[in-house]
Amino acid sequence: MADTLLLHIDGKDAASSDGGTFEVRNPATGVPLYDVAHATAQDVASAVAAGRAAFEDRRWHGMRPRDRARILNRAAGLLADRIDEYARLEVLQIGRTIREMRAQLARLPEWLEYFGAVAQSSEGTVPDFGEGYLNVVRRVPLGVAGLITPWNHPLLITMKKLSAALAAGNSIVIKPSELGPALPCALAALLEEAGVPAGVVNVVTGLGGSTGRFLSEHRGLDKLDITGGTETGRVVAANAGRSLIPVTAELGGKAPVIVFADADIERTVAGALFAAFIATGQTCVQGARVLVQRDVYQQVVDRLVERTRQLRLGDPLDPRTQIGPVVSRAQRDKVAQAVDRAKAQGATVLCGGRVPDSPELGHGWFYEPTVVGDVASTDDLWREEVFGPVTLVRPFDDEADAVAQANDCPFGLAASIWTSDIGRAVRVTDELDVGIVWVNDHHRIDPGSTWGGSKDSGIGSENGWDAYRGYTRPKSVIINSSDRPFDWFATTDDLRYS
Ligand code: NAD
Repeated sequence: MADTLLLHIDGKDAASSDGGTFEVRNPATGVPLYDVAHATAQDVASAVAAGRAAFEDRRWHGMRPRDRARILNRAAGLLADRIDEYARLEVLQIGRTIREMRAQLARLPEWLEYFGAVAQSSEGTVPDFGEGYLNVVRRVPLGVAGLITPWNHPLLITMKKLSAALAAGNSIVIKPSELGPALPCALAALLEEAGVPAGVVNVVTGLGGSTGRFLSEHRGLDKLDITGGTETGRVVAANAGRSLIPVTAELGGKAPVIVFADADIERTVAGALFAAFIATGQTCVQGARVLVQRDVYQQVVDRLVERTRQLRLGDPLDPRTQIGPVVSRAQRDKVAQAVDRAKAQGATVLCGGRVPDSPELGHGWFYEPTVVGDVASTDDLWREEVFGPVTLVRPFDDEADAVAQANDCPFGLAASIWTSDIGRAVRVTDELDVGIVWVNDHHRIDPGSTWGGSKDSGIGSENGWDAYRGYTRPKSVIINSSDRPFDWFATTDDLRYS
C-alpha cells in the first residue's frame, strides 16, 4: 500500500488541493500505518461536480439496467478475488480479527449481485387514471448521492450503500471514516476496472468535522446516506433538511438479547457471547443488554461470565485471536469511562472491566471483554451506546416485563429473542419497537433483508427493495389518449379537469 492514500475524483487519484493529510494508526500496535489525503471543501466540490457531470451525460444511468448489472457482477468477481488482500488491510486499520474480516468480506460480492438483479427486475406502475388517460409511473435515479460511512465495518457498509445507489443509476461521492479509509479508493478503481465509467464513483477521505461537513452541507447533492453515531446523524439529517433532499441515517443501537427460561441455555449463552463481543463489541446491533428470565438468570449469567473470561485477546492478524483491540485510544478511553461510571452508579463488574496488563498487548488499545450486573434503568450504561466489549445483564419476570425493559431505551435498531416457544417469539416480536428481530440468533444479515431502526437508531433502510427505491424517485407520465377536443376557456360549461 502507498505511503499516502489519495482521493479519487473523476476517475483519477489525486492529492488534496492544499496537500493536507492525516494519519492512520494500527490499533493493535499503535504504530502509524500511512497518511491519507485530507479533502478540502474545494476537493469535495470537485467530486460532486464530477458526479454531476457523469449523471447529466447519462454515461451510467443511460445504460440498460442489464448492462449496469453485468458490470456490477463483473465487479463482484474482481472483489471475490481480492478478499484476502482486503481483509488484511481492514485488520491493520481497524483491529478486527482476521477470522471475522475474512468471513465478512467473503459475502460482499453478494451485495453487488443482489442489487444488479433488483435493477433488472425493477418495474414502474400503471395507476388507473381513468378513461382517456394512460398513466405510467417510472422509478428514476436521484442524481448524485453523498455516502458517509463509519469505521466499524468499513467495506461492508460502503458496499451496502454503494450497491443500491449504483444499481439504480446514481453517481456517488463516498466519505469514509477517518479511522478506516483504506479501501474505498481501491474499490472505486475496482469498479472502474469492471466498467463503471469514470466520474460515477468518487471518494473524498478526511475528518468528519471538515470533509464530512463539507459534503453534507454541499447543495449539489440529491441524497445523503449516513451510517454513524446518532449525534452525527442528526447533523447530517439537518443538512439534508436544509437542502430538501432525502436522507437515510443508520445510527446507534443498544440491542437487547432476551433470554426466556425455555431456551436451550448452552446455545443461548453462545449466542449472547456472539451478540456481545464479535467485532470487540463495536457493532450497532451489539447485544449490549442481556435480559434473562429470573428462573434461569444465575445459571445464564454464570455461564456467560465463564465463557467471556475464556475469550482470547491478541494480535488480530493471528487466526487464533478471538478479540482484537478497540479501534482507537479515544474509543478505548470512552469504554473504560463508561464502565467506571457504571461502577460509580452502583453497578457490579462481573468480569473484565479493565485494560489487560499482559506486555504483548501493551502497545495496542485493548480492553477486556466485560459483563456488568446491577445496572438500573436510570444508569448511563442502560441508556447510552458504549460501542466496545461491554454488555450488561439484568433479570426479568415475564413477557410483559421483558418487553417493557427491552423498549425502555432511546434506540430501536435490533433485538434477539431466545426461546423454544414459537408463539412467544411472535408475541414478543410484535411488541418490540425495533427494526430488526432475530429469533434464536443475532447479527445475521442478507442483502435482500431490510436493515434499519426506529427512534434514535435513525431513519430509512439499507438492503432490499426499500434501499433500492430509496435511491430512486417516482416520475409520473400522464398521457392523454382521448381524441375529444378540450378547450377550457372557449366555454363556460362545466367541464371535468381534475
Ligand atoms: P461517527 O458518527 O463518529 O462517524 C461516522 C461518519 O460520519 C464518519 O465518516 C465521520 O467522519 C463522519 N462525520 C463525523 N462528524 C460529521 C459531521 N459533522 N458532518 C458530516 N460527517 C461527519 O461514527 P463512527 O464512530 O465512525 O461509527 C460508530 C457509530 O456508527 C456507532 O454509533 C454505531 O452504532 C453506528 N453504526 C450504525 C450502523 C447501523 O446500521 N445502524 C452500522 C454501523 C455503525
